Amino acid sequence: MELAKLETFSTERVGFVRAHTTDGDVGIGQFAPYNADITATVFHRQVADHALGRTIEDIGALADEIVEAEYKYPWSYVCRATGGLDTALWDLRGKRQGEPVVSLLGGEPTSVPVYGSSMRQEIDVDAEAERLARLRDESGFEAFKIRTGDWSSKGDDEDAWPGRTEELVPAVREAVGDDVTLLIDANSSYTPERAIEIGEGILAPNDVAYFEEPCPYWELEWTAEVTDALDDVTVTGGEQDTDLAQWRRMIGMDAVELVQPDVCYIGGLSRTLQVAELAADAGLPCIPHSANRSMVTVFALHLLAAIDNPGPYAEFTIEDDWAGGLLSPELTVEDGEVAVPSGPGWGVEVDPDWFDRAEYGVSELDEATGA
Ligand SMILES: [Mg+2]
Repeated sequence: MELAKLETFSTERVGFVRAHTTDGDVGIGQFAPYNADITATVFHRQVADHALGRTIEDIGALADEIVEAEYKYPWSYVCRATGGLDTALWDLRGKRQGEPVVSLLGGEPTSVPVYGSSMRQEIDVDAEAERLARLRDESGFEAFKIRTGDWSSKGDDEDAWPGRTEELVPAVREAVGDDVTLLIDANSSYTPERAIEIGEGILAPNDVAYFEEPCPYWELEWTAEVTDALDDVTVTGGEQDTDLAQWRRMIGMDAVELVQPDVCYIGGLSRTLQVAELAADAGLPCIPHSANRSMVTVFALHLLAAIDNPGPYAEFTIEDDWAGGLLSPELTVEDGEVAVPSGPGWGVEVDPDWFDRAEYGVSELDEATGA
């Protein structure tokens, strides 16, 4: 049961890994969306050879081993490519054992409450308020995340939409009512001074629960300053962070109060579990970043239903995004919850027609040399 063949199927938008063992088992994993065709190239050039010939028992350590072996090319693409491999191996292991990944992790395929996640910074204030109130009624969402700031503002402010934050937050609060939990994502927009001003002046008075990525994410001290200053709003972050040493620093300095690793950015489920454990040891909850309806949300659901320190909701996009129809069964919200797919492995299949349209790549074990 060594890994014998690793296939990739990719477009610019998204890509998948199909991992085959010598005895014929198959598992499927996914690369982080966007520039996934570049990730597939990196996969075959820098990742596949580390994995071919290895056994499925190596799964936990393999992702770290690859990231460390490729230390001249840290983070980003190597982690994205490794994430495709690692998630395929978890699927393979689940299918071999006839169990969903959540069960391999000690959990059960239950339903997970989700927050409806708006991806639109530019949307008109009234339109945002109206659609969230409608989705609350239609699908039973009990929490929503909205976007403030402007990620191109280089830590200053929302140059593109002056005054929008001040208008948006109370308008949404009024539209959805007091029983709905509100979350804010600033996408690295603010200086600490501005973030604290917004936190105290707009978020706390409108009972906003979480303030995500208030400052440029690489400025850990800035984020820690905001966390320290705001008593009534929980500061969250980490979706961009793929370096486990950086995660230890972030948690050690109390930069964030809830961690949001992305399974596909960081290098797969195995590395995400390490972040969740670091957070658990520090008494912090974890909600993986999952901003579209591809497999990244499936990975997040399995993880949240298994770990000891889940946050109260999984992230679930409310946009009709490009991943609609890609997976079966499709993820759907009922009474504000999404069921963890309960079939073996990740419990989902990718649309076969999509595979037919994608760019193909393959790396295989050389039987003669075993490499
Ligand atoms: Mg975010």
